[in-house]
Amino acid sequence: MEVGIDSLRQPYDLIVIGSGPAGLTLAHRYDDLTTSRTLIIESGSRSNMNGKA
Ligand SMILES: Cc1cc2nc3c(=O)[nH]c(=O)nc-3n(C[C@H](O)[C@H](O)[C@H](O)COP(=O)(O)OP(=O)(O)OC[C@H]3O[C@@H](n4cnc5c(N)ncnc54)[C@H](O)[C@@H]3O)c2cc1C
Repeated sequence: MEVGIDSLRQPYDLIVIGSGPAGLTLAHRYDDLTTSRTLIIESGSRSNMNGKA
């Protein structure tokens, strides 16, 4: 889910920078173990999210 800048003002238990295989695995494992709040920050472009170059 893409969120606005206001979301960055809320507290998080885990912040993962980068949504590559390493970041997503870490975030998924942590989310499975806890009911805490996790934020993933990705610098990639919107076009990459749609599978376009
Ligand atoms: C051409 C190519 C082909 C490959 N083919 C295979 C294959 O067939 N099989 C295989 O097992 N592996 C393959 N690999 C290797 C695989 O892509 C990497 O091992 C894997 O992607 C590494 O994962 P990572 O999460 O460590 O890093 P990455 O996948 O690089 O993810 C890092 C993420 O962090 C983001 N990011 C970086 N800096 C910031 C920042 N400052 N703020 C926010 N976000 C940021 C990036 O946009 C990226 O999404 C290939 C690699 C390449 C280059």
